[in-house]
Amino acid sequence: MNQYGSDQHGSDPHGSDHYGATTLSQAVLRGVACKCPRCGRGRLFSGYVRLRPSCETCGLDYAFNDPGDGPAVFVILFAGFVVVAAALIVEVKYQPPFWVHAMLWIPAVLATTLIPLRVIKSLLIVLQYHHRAAEGRLVQRDPQ
Ligand SMILES: [Zn+2]
Repeated sequence: MNQYGSDQHGSDPHGSDHYGATTLSQAVLRGVACKCPRCGRGRLFSGYVRLRPSCETCGLDYAFNDPGDGPAVFVILFAGFVVVAAALIVEVKYQPPFWVHAMLWIPAVLATTLIPLRVIKSLLIVLQYHHRAAEGRLVQRDPQ
């Protein structure tokens, strides 16, 4: 079994089995919908961002993926840019009291981090599958 779980369904783990090859736009749509990268029907998550062990429809083992801190990094960069820029603009233009900042930016931080986190994690997993991304491995070459 390789990292994509190909021994369960067909010989090619990257989409030319009976599930057919996926285009990049199909992969992105599956990522946004939080669906299985191979069949597009099974759910990817069992909790908010907790992965299922495998696809309930096609049986793809989700152990191949490891987005690591990638989703959090994208979310932090996005949320930091939006919220800090908005807070600076409000402070410079209106100089509101501290409690107004707290009332504005605490919900803004929660909204800009929690809402996109699930979709970004799913998108990274699906794109990792689509592009066959994996850790680098040493190749054993024949001695000359
Ligand atoms: Zn599936």
